Amino acid sequence: MYDIIIIGAGPAGLTAALYALRANKTVLLIEKATFGGQITFSPKIENYPGFEAVDGNALADSFFEQVTAQGAEFELEEATAIIDNGATKTVVTDCGEHEAKAVIIATGAKHRMLGAGNEENFAGNGISFCAVCDGAFYKEKTVAVVGGGNTAVQDAIYLSKLAKKVYLVHRRNEFRAEKRVTDGLSACPNIELVLDSVPVECLGDASLSALKVKNKFTEEERILPVDGVFVAIGQEPNNAAFRELVDLDPSGFIVADESCRTKNPAVFVAGDCRTKAVRQLVTAGADGGVAAIAACGYIDSENVKVG
Ligand SMILES: Cc1cc2nc3c(=O)[nH]c(=O)nc-3n(C[C@H](O)[C@H](O)[C@H](O)COP(=O)(O)OP(=O)(O)OC[C@H]3O[C@@H](n4cnc5c(N)ncnc54)[C@H](O)[C@@H]3O)c2cc1C
Repeated sequence: MYDIIIIGAGPAGLTAALYALRANKTVLLIEKATFGGQITFSPKIENYPGFEAVDGNALADSFFEQVTAQGAEFELEEATAIIDNGATKTVVTDCGEHEAKAVIIATGAKHRMLGAGNEENFAGNGISFCAVCDGAFYKEKTVAVVGGGNTAVQDAIYLSKLAKKVYLVHRRNEFRAEKRVTDGLSACPNIELVLDSVPVECLGDASLSALKVKNKFTEEERILPVDGVFVAIGQEPNNAAFRELVDLDPSGFIVADESCRTKNPAVFVAGDCRTKAVRQLVTAGADGGVAAIAACGYIDSENVKVG
């Protein structure tokens, strides 16, 4: 029996473990793939406080070593369900079952991919999912943004202040983004709209040099010479397994309050997997700390009396 089981060992889960361990709780971290989560795909992070630039894997290693030194236990397993036994919760995985007084879900999210040829070869090396994180690498260069929602249009406007030219590629001829957002496009002469078009292939040798797009109606192909492509077609959370115990919003993110509490008093949520406006390293870490403190408070309260 653990005090807290944390599902997902990305920045949110690892930070939650740090706070819970320092509050003298026993912690099991369950991770299905890579300790460190999404940042292990980023070769260079320039917006994490304390580092001018840091490799994502190096940062993940230091998070991991810090919680290991504090006594966290780890299992490389995939959580498939949480069973509510009343005073305790059972986390079911592909390898067995683990029991705890409280659970923190920190399963993150995956960015939707373009579905274009060669994109895996350029992920983190020309293809980015975050204009705020990586925009500065493209000063005076040419980039494409793919998507039609608020994020895509805001990213294009943001990047137009840094890049020489921005192509905004969207599969429809109208944006899903709100009018107040699209209104900003008219003040950005270096944004070219490429509408009714979908990306078909990422081109380049060592680094990305162009994006091939196809018009959905005319089938005409066009090669956009770009140094970078920003993919803004949404994120997919990994929360379906937990929908019995927590509320999900229409996009599948877990609904929680400011203290990262879900509707179940013993289940907390941290990081990119919850409904929130900003999905970044610092907000994931902040959630981890907040969720852990809330979970410790729950365990220490009169409510948890385990026989
Ligand atoms: C290429 C790239 C570059 C980025 N660059 C930056 C940047 O420069 N600055 C910045 O602030 N942010 C950046 N981000 C975003 C940042 O990495 C995320 O906001 C952050 O990692 C979210 O942390 P998290 O712990 O909530 O989720 P994640 O990092 O997604 O971690 C969740 C973990 O949970 C695991 N998991 C999921 N489901 C289960 C399950 N059922 N059982 C067990 N384990 C499970 C996953 O395998 C994963 O390891 C970048 C993201 C990417 C992809």
